[in-house]
Amino acid sequence: MEQFEGSDFYNLDDLLTEEQRLIRDTVREFVDDQVVPCIEDCFMTDRFPLQIIPTLGELGLLGANLNGYDCAGLDNISYGLIMQELERGDSGVRSFVSVQGGLVMYPIHRYGSDEQKDKFLPQLASGKMIGCFGLTEPDHGSDPSGMITHAVEDGDEYVLNGNKMWITNGCISDVAVVWAKLDDRIRGFLVEKGSPGFTTTKQEKKFSLRASTTSELHFQDCRIPKANLLPGADGLAGPLTCLTQARYGIAWGVVGSAMACFDAAKKYSLSRIQFDRPIGGFQLVQAKLAEMLSEITKAQLLCLRLAQLKDSGKMTAQQVSLSKRNNVYWALEIARSARDLLGANGVTHEYPVGRHMLNLESVKTYEGTHDIHTLILGHEITGIPAYK
Ligand SMILES: Cc1cc2nc3c(=O)[nH]c(=O)nc-3n(C[C@H](O)[C@H](O)[C@H](O)COP(=O)(O)OP(=O)(O)OC[C@H]3O[C@@H](n4cnc5c(N)ncnc54)[C@H](O)[C@@H]3O)c2cc1C
Repeated sequence: MEQFEGSDFYNLDDLLTEEQRLIRDTVREFVDDQVVPCIEDCFMTDRFPLQIIPTLGELGLLGANLNGYDCAGLDNISYGLIMQELERGDSGVRSFVSVQGGLVMYPIHRYGSDEQKDKFLPQLASGKMIGCFGLTEPDHGSDPSGMITHAVEDGDEYVLNGNKMWITNGCISDVAVVWAKLDDRIRGFLVEKGSPGFTTTKQEKKFSLRASTTSELHFQDCRIPKANLLPGADGLAGPLTCLTQARYGIAWGVVGSAMACFDAAKKYSLSRIQFDRPIGGFQLVQAKLAEMLSEITKAQLLCLRLAQLKDSGKMTAQQVSLSKRNNVYWALEIARSARDLLGANGVTHEYPVGRHMLNLESVKTYEGTHDIHTLILGHEITGIPAYK
């Protein structure tokens, strides 16, 4: 496999600081050394590359934009570049890091007690502990407000009952951030591995995100200490603010998948000879490559501006929706187009394109489907909610 070359048609590198470029290049090298060599096999054998977790921690990539508690405290451009580079390797690797940082460490950091922060955040930052985020249920996906999982108080404990489904990292987690109703309000609970009544099942037979562990979580009279309630999260806004963080990472991450597909398609189009010339010399092929590069460049510009808004505290959830919706849509279109350009080779694991294409089907669905983000934008534009 030839060395990956990123796309920077608008010289966006000039807008990055030296430190940001260094972080990007460090993660790119890590992905080349530790992800690329094993990821096709992980995808084919349906397993997450667990061996990379300590290095993710050592490099400061877990909860990288959080402050204190052994977190790297990076700006949001650096954080985005990390997501981009990880997803260039595989969406499953970026998902692991997004969930750990945006959906587990962020809610503990924002909504947790001092004791919870001290106990969990340094361990999660180092990768010694793994976390997951349980919101989706078998019958409640896009509309989590109807969730069935609930908690009741019993002395010094909460007793949880219900099921969560499609939970990234579920089976391999030491702690699950679980959203459940308490007195009809959605609250966040930290459920630790080994809690009585808590079990997990690995979800098999996925054709997408196969290098990511996806699980069901089961709570049958599951008992957790009262101290494991996240005190600061009350209502649906709790999980939604976490999703905004993770969607931000997705908007950047998929630029990495798109760049990987474009890079493979460009190189292939220059080396593959048909009708006595490289296929890159045909106008129809050039049209596809031109569209890929245009959409990658536009997605990069969206990400950079979104990062500036986030760093200045002005970013809105709706702006994140626009970027997630747009960038995932185009990354998937680019992956499909690259798959097409590779001909029959595009359906093999000799090239990363088919794997990225399959992964992006999940990315289009999770963290708010494409159409749910359309509705969020429609609501923002018109002031009229059209979800129901
Ligand atoms: C690999 C993977 C990993 C995941 N990881 C996690 C995780 O870690 N934690 C977690 O909590 N969840 C996770 N999810 C779940 C994911 O967030 C949900 O799948 C997603 O929210 C969609 O829910 P659903 O699958 O139930 O689809 P549904 O909500 O049933 O939607 C089905 C279709 O109906 C459309 N639809 C729904 N409502 C409307 C409407 N009002 N108007 C128009 N169209 C509508 C949707 O756009 C979609 O096309 C993961 C999913 C996958 C595939």
